[in-house]
Amino acid sequence: MKRVLVLAAAVTALFANAQGYPGSKPISFVVPFAAGGPTDRAARDLAEAMRKTLPGGNFVIENVNGAGGTIAATKVAKANPDGHTLLFWHIGMAATAGLYRKLQYKPLEDFEYLGMVSDVPMTLIGKPQLPANTYRDFENYIRANGGKLNIAHAGLGSASHLCGLMWQTAVNAKEAMTTIPYGGTAPAMTALIGGQVDVMCDQTITTVPQIEAGRVKAFAVTTASRLSGHKVLKDYPSLQEMGLKGFNLTIWQGLYAPKGTPEPVLKQLNDALKLALKDPDFIKKQEALGTVVVTDQRMERAGHKAFVAAEIAKLRPLIEAAGKFAD
Ligand code: ASP
Repeated sequence: MKRVLVLAAAVTALFANAQGYPGSKPISFVVPFAAGGPTDRAARDLAEAMRKTLPGGNFVIENVNGAGGTIAATKVAKANPDGHTLLFWHIGMAATAGLYRKLQYKPLEDFEYLGMVSDVPMTLIGKPQLPANTYRDFENYIRANGGKLNIAHAGLGSASHLCGLMWQTAVNAKEAMTTIPYGGTAPAMTALIGGQVDVMCDQTITTVPQIEAGRVKAFAVTTASRLSGHKVLKDYPSLQEMGLKGFNLTIWQGLYAPKGTPEPVLKQLNDALKLALKDPDFIKKQEALGTVVVTDQRMERAGHKAFVAAEIAKLRPLIEAAGKFAD
C-alpha cells in the first residue's frame, strides 16, 4: 500500500511539473556573450517566437560573458533543473570540448538537448580603413603586413575564434596577426568599426547590417559556396571559391537545459521550439540575416544531440591541428 502511495505521489509530482510550467517565474535564456552580438540577437528573436506558444512564458535574457562561453555553460549545467534556466549557445558547445583541457561540465552528459535552432554562415570582415577591397587584395595585405595586424574574437572557443583559427591555418598566416579577445563580438564590432582592430570573422546575423551600411569591409563568406540568394551576401565570394580548398564553416545554434529537467517540461520546451521554427515572422527575420532555420531531425532532442556529438568529433582534430589549447 505504502509503495502504491509513493508511486502515486511521484506521478502527481511529474504532472504537476508539466501543468504548472512555466507559471509566473521567468524562463532565463543564458547567453554566453555580450548583449547586441549575434548570439544575443538570435536568442532574443527565439524568445519572442517561443513566447507566442508557451502560455504565460515570460522570457529574460541573461548575458554571462567570458571564457569563450564556458562560464555560461557551467552556470546552466549546475542550475536547478526546473526549466527556468536554459542555455542558448552555438558551435562553441562542440568547439570548447576540444579546446579546453579542463571544463567544469561534460557537454554530452550534463545537459538535456532541447533542439537546434539554425545554421549560420560567417563572414570575414575588416575595418573600413583597410586598403584592400577584394579578398585577393586582403590576403596579400595580410601577408605583407604580418605581425602588425590584429584579429578580434569573442574568447577561446567562440565561433569567431574558431573561424579565425581555421582561416589563418588555411592561408598559412597563423603568426601574422595578434588575437584580441572580447566578451562578445558586439564590443569587437565597435572596435573594428572604430579602427582599433583590423579583422574579424563573425556571424552574418550582425555583419549583414554593418556591411549594408558600409561600416565594415567584407571580403568573403565561410560557406562552401557563395550565398547567391541573399541580397547583401551574394556579392562576396566563398573562401573555397578563392582557393582555400575544402574551407566550409557554418555554425549552428541550439537550446539546452540542465540534466535532470523533468520530461514533461522538456517536451513542452521542445514543442514550443519547433513551433517557433515554423513561425513565418521568425523565419523571415532569420533569413534576412543570412541564417537558415532548422527543418530537419536536428530540431528533435535526440537528433540535435547526435549532431553535436558528431561536431565534437569533427572539430577536435581541426583544433588540434591549429595547436592552440586553453586551460
Ligand atoms: N559571434 C560571437 C562568437 O564569435 C559571439 C557573440 O558575441 O554572439 O562566438
